[in-house]
Amino acid sequence: MHHVILGAGPAGVIAAETIRKHAPNDTITMVGDEKEPPYSRMAIPYLLMGNVGERGTYLRKSLTHFDDLKVKMVHAQASSVDAAARTVTCCLPRPPRSRKCGVSRPLIPGLNRACSA
Ligand SMILES: Cc1cc2nc3c(=O)[nH]c(=O)nc-3n(C[C@H](O)[C@H](O)[C@H](O)COP(=O)(O)OP(=O)(O)OC[C@H]3O[C@@H](n4cnc5c(N)ncnc54)[C@H](O)[C@@H]3O)c2cc1C
Repeated sequence: MHHVILGAGPAGVIAAETIRKHAPNDTITMVGDEKEPPYSRMAIPYLLMGNVGERGTYLRKSLTHFDDLKVKMVHAQASSVDAAARTVTCCLPRPPRSRKCGVSRPLIPGLNRACSA
């Protein structure tokens, strides 16, 4: 089975890790629209105060954590989900202050590349 998790925040990370624990051979893809590795929002004030560096905000300290778990990370923004067709449409995230999202690189098999912006 192929599990596609939309959102790479704490909920997405726990979902990926839990699925992996129970389904060692399934395919797991986590789609997140922020370019940083999954991070803790509660660490943001500490980052702004200079108490931790950016890496100190990451939810998982090993930079190979998701590779090690065979969780494929895709940097993209899900724009629609068609559960009946089992299809997720993604586009690249909008850069700050940009009005349109662009489609310039292939995503993953099973995900559409269309952008509805
Ligand atoms: C400054 C701050 C301090 C906090 N402190 C605490 C605390 O001390 N204790 C506590 O319990 N909670 C705290 N929280 C709340 C906590 O961070 C949230 O409850 C938690 O982050 C929710 O996790 P989540 O994975 O559900 O959602 P999020 O953390 O919001 O993660 C969702 C992710 O999905 C991405 N995403 C959204 N839409 C799409 C899409 N269409 N396609 C692809 N990706 C998408 C988002 O960009 C984001 O990266 C704090 C929050 C903030 C902002």
